Amino acid sequence: MLRNYDVVIVGAGMVGASLACALAPSGLRIAIIEAVSLKSDYQPSYDDRGLTLSPSSKRILKHIGVWENISSAISPIKKIHVSEQGRFGFTHLNASETNIKELGYVVIARVLGEALHEKMLSLKNISLICPAELKSFKRNNKIMTLEISNLGYSESITTGLLVAADGSQSLVRSLADIRINKYDFGQTAIVANVTTQKPNQSTAYERFTHHGPVAFLPIGKNRSVLIFTIATKDKNRYMSMADSQFIDGVETEFGRRLGKLEKIGQRRSYPIMFIEAVEQYQQQLILLGNAAHSIHPNSAQGFNLGLRDVAGLAECIFEAIEKGLNVDDISILEKYVSLRLSDQKRVIQFTNRLASSFYNKNPLLIPARNLAMLLLDTLPIVKKTFIQQAMGIAGLQPRIVRGQHA
Ligand SMILES: Cc1cc2nc3c(=O)[nH]c(=O)nc-3n(C[C@H](O)[C@H](O)[C@H](O)COP(=O)(O)OP(=O)(O)OC[C@H]3O[C@@H](n4cnc5c(N)ncnc54)[C@H](O)[C@@H]3O)c2cc1C
Repeated sequence: MLRNYDVVIVGAGMVGASLACALAPSGLRIAIIEAVSLKSDYQPSYDDRGLTLSPSSKRILKHIGVWENISSAISPIKKIHVSEQGRFGFTHLNASETNIKELGYVVIARVLGEALHEKMLSLKNISLICPAELKSFKRNNKIMTLEISNLGYSESITTGLLVAADGSQSLVRSLADIRINKYDFGQTAIVANVTTQKPNQSTAYERFTHHGPVAFLPIGKNRSVLIFTIATKDKNRYMSMADSQFIDGVETEFGRRLGKLEKIGQRRSYPIMFIEAVEQYQQQLILLGNAAHSIHPNSAQGFNLGLRDVAGLAECIFEAIEKGLNVDDISILEKYVSLRLSDQKRVIQFTNRLASSFYNKNPLLIPARNLAMLLLDTLPIVKKTFIQQAMGIAGLQPRIVRGQHA
């Protein structure tokens, strides 16, 4: 007999798993299909990357009951220091200048993955189908049938709503013939955990260099996550360097703000692409997270934005259920996009502008960049807008982000 669900989510990465947890209180029958075991070392969403979570993400993760399980492993960000190599402009953002205690939080992606996994397993109306892969789907008279490969066996399941949370190379998106805008920054991020001679004092550093941004995110007193961006053509060279040589390279770009880099863990590399789906929804189908928009990690916004999209979609589905609508009603997806589009556009524009302005070697742009950083540092209104943007609370946000129930 065909298994039937109200909602099927493809991809139990950070975004898909968060949506399953957010929707669970509705009582809908939810299935979540994931290709790679959530405990595997090769799980693409849950590796040893340090993730910056904004205060908006904290509210959402609290609301879905996951924050408590990660709070002991989280490091707060109290200050952000942004600078550009060889230029006078720099800026400090300080939590004490705002009414909040922390500007953000750092958590290792694997820790967040374990908490989301545990939460999903505790919820009776979520069926985690893993390891299993979506292969194809078809729509016929409001019945959406999915073909999945489950431990080598083919199986068909049906659903009212298909959510594609299957990442930047989304199969659902290509099967649905949804076009994308794509831009290769020609950049690769190398990520590793580092021990520094000086304590980081809960400060996140971002320094724009001629290679691209270098960031240090605090994860312990003397421990930070390093995100070192380089041109993709240099990736193999940087990945195969001895630790001492790599550390020298990082210190040349970043300086000794944190003293000597004493130890460095395993390096992992991530190609950086901008991908944006031209349409986010079709009848009974919605793209979420990286499947909808993959952005440059320079401002640590990708997952934070995806999580606000999760809160927005959950809000629209709960509202529809209250009105007696079915989850396959297209008005839910129309409402979702109208609620979320301005935030998505703002974040995409911000990260793309940041990337192109700092990669641009045009000397005419340099004074403008310095001025922008100086303005940011001296004008309270510019600074407040920037902080609100980074915290994920600018503009109209879903109710959960505003501290209300979905
Ligand atoms: C170096 C780097 C640093 C970053 N730092 C930050 C940060 O500090 N803060 C932040 O907010 N964001 C950050 N991001 C962005 C963040 O990682 C992404 O926004 C986030 O991972 C997107 O999650 P996702 O669930 O949409 O996609 P993914 O993480 O790609 O998950 C997709 C899942 O779908 C599964 N899947 C794919 N195809 C199928 C299929 N056919 N069937 C079944 N399952 C399938 C995959 O196995 C995977 O588990 C960073 C990104 C990079 C590269």
